[in-house]
Amino acid sequence: MDAPRPRPTLDAIPVYVPGKPATVRPGLTAYKLSSNENPYPPLPGVVEAAHRAVARMNRYPDLGNTELYAALSRRLGLPEDHLALSTGSVALIYQLLTAYCAPGDEVVYAWRSFEAYPIATAAVGAVEVTVPLTADARHDLDAMADAITDRTRVVFVCTPNNPTGPAVTHTELTAFLARVPGHVVVVVDEAYLEFVRMPDAVDGLALHREHPNVVLFRTFSKAYGLAGFRVGYAVADPTVAAAVRAVSLPFGVNLVAQAAAVASLEAEPALLERVDALVAERDRVGAALREVGWRVPDAQGNFFWLELGERTAEFAAAAEEAGVTVRPFAGHGCRVSIAEPEAGDRFVELAARFA
Ligand SMILES: *Cc1c(COP(=O)(O)O)cnc(C)c1O
Repeated sequence: MDAPRPRPTLDAIPVYVPGKPATVRPGLTAYKLSSNENPYPPLPGVVEAAHRAVARMNRYPDLGNTELYAALSRRLGLPEDHLALSTGSVALIYQLLTAYCAPGDEVVYAWRSFEAYPIATAAVGAVEVTVPLTADARHDLDAMADAITDRTRVVFVCTPNNPTGPAVTHTELTAFLARVPGHVVVVVDEAYLEFVRMPDAVDGLALHREHPNVVLFRTFSKAYGLAGFRVGYAVADPTVAAAVRAVSLPFGVNLVAQAAAVASLEAEPALLERVDALVAERDRVGAALREVGWRVPDAQGNFFWLELGERTAEFAAAAEEAGVTVRPFAGHGCRVSIAEPEAGDRFVELAARFA
């Protein structure tokens, strides 16, 4: 029988596995450590701005995101045409690939890295070229430069790398960019930028000024605590920003999200204090993990990576039992988010049993 058939490339799209919600257990506070979310509730000014916007829900949002572009432009010291807002950086990944890749073109990224890269690559019919992480779970930027061919259109550098944690240095990234042909877009996915505390940290805005093919992806989902509202933005050369905007869904960033993001930028000092507290908690948990015998990769985001191999599912189940929900990657390892200290304590206790 004749039936509508989607493009054959759709069969190749892997399924996005979201972090599971926390399982409620009687007598035990459950913690969701599976999606790298900010555990703090939204700041007062942000909640009120969102409430005010809710009252206007019968109206379309501002198509041009005027206030949010203006606020970001002031915050970053960049003209608005260097920015492209969208519904989270996941949407930016799709848009960038849609704008730059024809079927058969190549997209290079490290593996394991952010699981949205293979999904979006397959969705646009491009071909993934994956480059294994080094033994200490870092990007191998030399090997990634070697992997670039005439067909390469886009390279993703996820720093800090989700789910393993290490960040590349500014020196490493600068050396890499010197080897990348100018027609290849290099996305520096800085979803965890605010959590980075290391010498020679990437200065994305400096790279943006020096390299028209560099695109920074940033998000309000992690440090800013607006994961549920879906707002992210790209910093790019105006031609690239225009291409990313051209393929966006009209009215994507809804009016509550726009208002909350503007208010979050105003509340930035208070938000970043919370980030400091999370970084302190990360360092505490990291020291404790090493104490009990784990050699975890350097964690520059708000999460740790335990390479558990065949014990991955067992660990995830035991964590569930202990009232903490983690993110297992089948047969490879678990990513565990930093959140409340009690959750961190339970995670360390559990990790000790698996050390
Ligand atoms: C969480 C995350 C994002 C952000 O996704 P949003 O769509 O903005 O919520 C982007 N990149 C990486 C590597 C992430 O971990």
